[in-house]
Amino acid sequence: MSVTKKDTTVLQNYINGVWVSSNSSQTLNVPNPATNELLTKVPVSTKEDVNEAAAAAKEAFNKWKKVPVPKRARILFKYHSLLSDNHEELARLIVQENGKAFKEAYGEVQRGIECVEFASGAPTLMMGETLSGIAEEIDSEMFRYPLGVVGGITPFNFPMMVPLWMFPLAIACGNTFVLKPSERTPILANRLAELFSEAGAPPGVLNVVHGAHDVVNGLLDHEDIAAISFVGSQPVAKYVYERAAAKGKRVQALSGAKNHHIVMPDADMDKAVQHIISSTFGSAGQRCMACSAVVVVGDNEPFVKALAKRADELIIGNGMDDEVLLTPVIRKEHREKVLGYIERGIVEGADLIRDGRKEMSDHPEGNFLGPTIFDHVTPEMTIAKDEIFAPVLSLLRARDLDEGLEYIRKSRYGNGATIYTNNAKAIRQFREEADAGMLGINVGVPATMAFFPFSGWKDSFYGDLHVNGKDGLNFYTRKKMITSRFEA
Ligand code: NAD
Repeated sequence: MSVTKKDTTVLQNYINGVWVSSNSSQTLNVPNPATNELLTKVPVSTKEDVNEAAAAAKEAFNKWKKVPVPKRARILFKYHSLLSDNHEELARLIVQENGKAFKEAYGEVQRGIECVEFASGAPTLMMGETLSGIAEEIDSEMFRYPLGVVGGITPFNFPMMVPLWMFPLAIACGNTFVLKPSERTPILANRLAELFSEAGAPPGVLNVVHGAHDVVNGLLDHEDIAAISFVGSQPVAKYVYERAAAKGKRVQALSGAKNHHIVMPDADMDKAVQHIISSTFGSAGQRCMACSAVVVVGDNEPFVKALAKRADELIIGNGMDDEVLLTPVIRKEHREKVLGYIERGIVEGADLIRDGRKEMSDHPEGNFLGPTIFDHVTPEMTIAKDEIFAPVLSLLRARDLDEGLEYIRKSRYGNGATIYTNNAKAIRQFREEADAGMLGINVGVPATMAFFPFSGWKDSFYGDLHVNGKDGLNFYTRKKMITSRFEA
């Protein structure tokens, strides 16, 4: 392991409390999606780098697990205040490497801080259970213990919130952590580690190893890593789940999505349009809870017209500009893939009622794509089935709520779904029958807060225990039962 001074041209890994260069000289460029200017380079680290980080985390675990829980929580309190003090700077870093609008990045930092808030409650969360008198003069107690070293693998679309779904709670529970951030948004992860160390986290408790597949495989196969938290696209989530579970690890793998919003005829149309526009086109559609399919119930041409009109008015540009809502997608290659989906939609017979390709030439410097809307999409079409992860919306037409719910049932994904209505009967039917794990009633992005589980269903999640809330606590702890006899 070569220890060097912090290098600004190639990011360093953070292992055992020290900034170190990767063993690999291979790097990937990290450009700003709005300008394609080079921000930095990220090392494509090797399994050796993972082994060094895992060894540091294993060594640190021996001491960290014995640190009293309130003392661990105090470090999280301090971390909370450091993150809050640097709220704006963190948001700027997100805009720079991810491209989303500053307001959204600011909101993301807030969501991350809330995860630290939740983890700071570790002394209460970690409490066990007791029963005096399970038999004559015999009592039972349950204690919670950490698992050991946990590996976290994160996506590009929430460079702050998703890592903070994972390591604060895992570490508060007494585990140590090796984080592999997205190689497309790696900068913020280093800042998070820096601030965590400033908050008083001992060396080796949190480690960051940058890179791609080799780092992921290194974590999945490592015998000293007890559990894996993953968030990313569906094929990778399934692969991670299967490979890590086959090695006997505890795994939670959050995956892709296709979120349907049902617009009932009685809905407040202005509000429905407003929520759908911001859910679909905010963060350039690159949110796992973004609306990507709207089910229009009944003949509702005024709604479709109003939606297309509002899409026309969206300001497209750099996320640092206050007025902007529609920001670039993460990479030019991703935009190419999205253009393929648009072609496919046309070929399969959907009506392209708003073509966002026309705005591409207005912003040649970045990876922009204007708001794109297809009407008369049917559930069998590729654009209705696949997660496109871009500002591309499909409108499906349904006779009634039953048919709308049937579309949701047919989807392989089950992250979120929303209904716009004020009809109590429709709301109840939607709540009972919608086949997805996070539902919105007149809410555009029904993402849960840190004290509730982020509870995707079907192919949107592989595993048993979700991130956040009590599920998160149960994921990062194991229970020990003590049965004691007290005879005179
Ligand atoms: P991605 O799958 O490309 O990457 C996620 C992580 O996996 C990265 O760290 C990456 O380095 C690694 N990876 C990628 N390909 C790999 C491979 N073949 N082998 C091993 N590791 C690999 O995902 P992304 O594009 O960064 O993120 C967007 C995806 O994440 C979307 O599908 C989105 O829906 C999903 N997501 C889901 C949730 C959720 O809560 N369900 C939340 C956020 C993002």
